[in-house]
Amino acid sequence: MALTVALGLRTIGTPTLVESYMFPQQVFPDTTAVNERGHLVIGGCDVTELVLRHGTPLYIFDEDTLRERCRRFVQDFGRLHADTQVIYACKAYVNPALARLLLEEGLGLDVVSGGEAAIARTVGFPPERVYFHGNNKGRQELEEAVSWGIGRVVVDNFHELSLLQEVASGLGKTQDIMLRVSPSVDPHTHVYTTTGVLDSKFGFSIETGQAQQAVRQALSSPNLRVVGLHYHLGSPIFEVEPYQHAMGIVLRLAADFREEGLNLEEISPGGGFAIAYTREHQPPSVAEYAEAIVGSMKETCQTLGLRVPRLTIEPGRSVMGTAGVAVYSVGAVKDIPGIRKYVSVDGGMGDNIRPALYEAQYEALVANKADQQASEQVTIAGKYCESGDVLVRDVELPPLTQGDLIAIPASGAYCPSMASVYNLNGRPPIVLVKDGADRLIRRRETYADLMLCDVV
Ligand SMILES: *Cc1c(COP(=O)(O)O)cnc(C)c1O
Repeated sequence: MALTVALGLRTIGTPTLVESYMFPQQVFPDTTAVNERGHLVIGGCDVTELVLRHGTPLYIFDEDTLRERCRRFVQDFGRLHADTQVIYACKAYVNPALARLLLEEGLGLDVVSGGEAAIARTVGFPPERVYFHGNNKGRQELEEAVSWGIGRVVVDNFHELSLLQEVASGLGKTQDIMLRVSPSVDPHTHVYTTTGVLDSKFGFSIETGQAQQAVRQALSSPNLRVVGLHYHLGSPIFEVEPYQHAMGIVLRLAADFREEGLNLEEISPGGGFAIAYTREHQPPSVAEYAEAIVGSMKETCQTLGLRVPRLTIEPGRSVMGTAGVAVYSVGAVKDIPGIRKYVSVDGGMGDNIRPALYEAQYEALVANKADQQASEQVTIAGKYCESGDVLVRDVELPPLTQGDLIAIPASGAYCPSMASVYNLNGRPPIVLVKDGADRLIRRRETYADLMLCDVV
């Protein structure tokens, strides 16, 4: 028992202690354990039993982990700056059941489309706690948002600045806005998820003077009220320095426009907080991000003689990512002697495109053999007709046979939300687990669902 205790793993019953207990706990939900049958347990539910009832592929979301992450952000930032608002970035993944949970935890929502806003409306989210992001919001999306009374439109570009003025004026409303600026700070993450550098489609660049021009235009737009500035550097960001560096640059911009009437009530450094996907990853804690961001905000405000504004943070991945685990069944195995052993599962890039899109790395664990020693190196491939459809390369696992269950942790963010029906595989169901009970919050897509919008 000493070993499991030392590793911080909760065990149920008295399982045999073997090396595979050394799975990296930080990538799994907080409630993860292994029971006396050697099965992975999440939220008190034996994963093999969840699979018997719901099939595979299956996404399991752990309610306790999700609520804990919400509270971590609210508390760790709130402790340092009481006027902090936590806005969950829906693009990481949201559905009505999860939105309701986020509402209960006191979070707001960052939406990037009329569709995400519709979920917020459906569950009765107060519109003032919803922020509208995106680099090409449509006229209809803006009309819907302004009519609904959405809290903030985060304006990304000159086209949107004029369009929103027109829309708000047409509806006889004044809309609170933030301006998304780009501070030319490189957060050292994948080029596809870097957003705050000069060569980016997002935001008004400070370096080129376009941000300054945007502030002037916004201040003179009669139906827009500029409440603050926003930046988002990219994701995942494993360092705190880029946030601090950018905070200084953006607050200086605000100070430059004080005389011209910019009253900085609110600032947002966006999201991008990292999580561990593999045992090697060691992201800063939420408290460390909070200290860096709040610290640099307060110091710079003091230096520049600015009143300390409201702080809005927008975590997505770091709220939802670790709460979710994907489970697949093993099917075909192809051993290429001396080269590689491919183990194919019944999901893949249709439900998790991140390895194919960003070369993202994951851990894997055999959910029905969680107490067995790793003995061979395999590559977990998906079932989609693309050679790039590989979920995990070169992972050490116990001997695998058909029907074994592969659990891939840290799959809560940017997996179901980016899912497609490529090859016309229906998207997987999602269960929310807590205290030994599971609740289906999204059912499996059927063949009929796949043809629902087709017109014969
Ligand atoms: C994507 C995004 C976020 C969330 O990023 P995470 O890495 O999921 O935390 C927050 N704000 C904006 C503007 C974004 O585009």
